[in-house]
Amino acid sequence: MRYLSTRGLAPPVSFLDAVLAGMAPDGGLYVPESWPQSIFGAGPIRPALDTFAETARVILAAFAGADLSPEEAAQLADEAYWSPTVASAETARRWPPAVTPLVQIDSGDWILELFRGPSLSFKDLAMQLIGALYDLALSKRNLRLSVVCATSGDTGGAAVEALKGRERVDLFVLLPKGRVSDVQRRFMTASGAENVHAIEIAGDFDDCQRIVKAMFSDRDFALRAALSGVNSINWARILAQSIYFHVAAAALSAAGPVAFVVPTGNFGDAFSGFVAKKTGASIGKIVLATNSNDILARALATGRYDRAPRSHATVSPAMDIQVASNFERILFEAMRRDGEAVRRLYERFSQSGEFDIPPHALDYLRTEFSAGSATDAETLETMRSRWSGGDGYMMCPHTAVGVHVGAGSDAARVFLATAHPAKFPDTVERATGVRPSLPPKFADMLERPERMDVAPNDAEAVKQYIRERSRAWS
Ligand SMILES: *Cc1c(COP(=O)(O)O)cnc(C)c1O
Repeated sequence: MRYLSTRGLAPPVSFLDAVLAGMAPDGGLYVPESWPQSIFGAGPIRPALDTFAETARVILAAFAGADLSPEEAAQLADEAYWSPTVASAETARRWPPAVTPLVQIDSGDWILELFRGPSLSFKDLAMQLIGALYDLALSKRNLRLSVVCATSGDTGGAAVEALKGRERVDLFVLLPKGRVSDVQRRFMTASGAENVHAIEIAGDFDDCQRIVKAMFSDRDFALRAALSGVNSINWARILAQSIYFHVAAAALSAAGPVAFVVPTGNFGDAFSGFVAKKTGASIGKIVLATNSNDILARALATGRYDRAPRSHATVSPAMDIQVASNFERILFEAMRRDGEAVRRLYERFSQSGEFDIPPHALDYLRTEFSAGSATDAETLETMRSRWSGGDGYMMCPHTAVGVHVGAGSDAARVFLATAHPAKFPDTVERATGVRPSLPPKFADMLERPERMDVAPNDAEAVKQYIRERSRAWS
């Protein structure tokens, strides 16, 4: 399997090259050259795969092609996820048996809990696999990497959990000052690992993301630092997140194609749902749920992709994003894989901050997705009513954005629960009157010593920081 850039200029690369690079050198994102079909065998319902890890193996093997042997794919999946037959004691401590439990909250309504991993957000599901993949690929090639990651709050913690202590990797996490909760920050600053560097940037998430993109565009710097990125622009993230869409859709297959409601910021998780659908999962509409940073909802409604000057702070901070990087991947599909046309749209976007989606592409998007947004008041009210209503379910604010936006249709629905409520204790308490507690194994989280540096909102300053600390620098 080879990977193409959405902007059509970079040469195709293999699976591991796409994963290690993170982003294509022409500024585009890697996508598979074709969608593997019938990966679970023929027929609409796939054979029963007993565990999450087994499903992961099949998906990984289908997308990695010759880059991974079947044994390697199996080993990676078992290392990343729980598997009753082969899991080590270590893996079994990381995940509950179901990995991603489905909880029914109403007759046709299900919550897919994606926050049971080591840093309590859905980002763990992809990052655990990436950690294992990096180890394998880097020792095969005898390489070291500097891994950079911009975070709106949860990616950083998941990357730290997946990469802390790994010999061949130094991790640099860029987090926006004042925009992440205390618990989120501690997952990034309190690991105690020498190879982890948390850097607070005087800016918002879009600034952090822009700095990361600027570092990749500086080819000399990127090569000398052996730079790699684990933001959701990394194909392995998208691939790994498609696993739970398959698992959940198969579990509910008797209900026919189910809609998935996805709280969205960077469009990564939502694109993963699309990938699952493309590769055979029984999925109806994918519903995009944004907070008031609603560029995606507006784009679908108006046909114009148009960024506001700045994101504003909301009670669902992990989605305070204006530029949804992975939108480029779905646009590539919607534009019938015409990389040159995508490149022209993004050239325009970088100059003027907007472009019009061509009519045929907009039709395509509206067939696959619907979208809506929730205000902070609606988000808090949803958290309150779901907690004090019949089902008594406590949810994080991002999950509540989805539950608000997806409410009211007749079809069976799966709402993605993207973080543990205890990662946002102040907001949950404000909405429900109850302060959620962290699971027992995280009880000492708030006492662990923190280590964090600060940097101005400036790519050159961050480059200098990395140059001084990366063991990969040459
Ligand atoms: C990252 C994140 C999201 C948004 O996911 P995208 O893939 O960026 O769309 C939603 N909720 C939580 C809790 C997150 O951490």
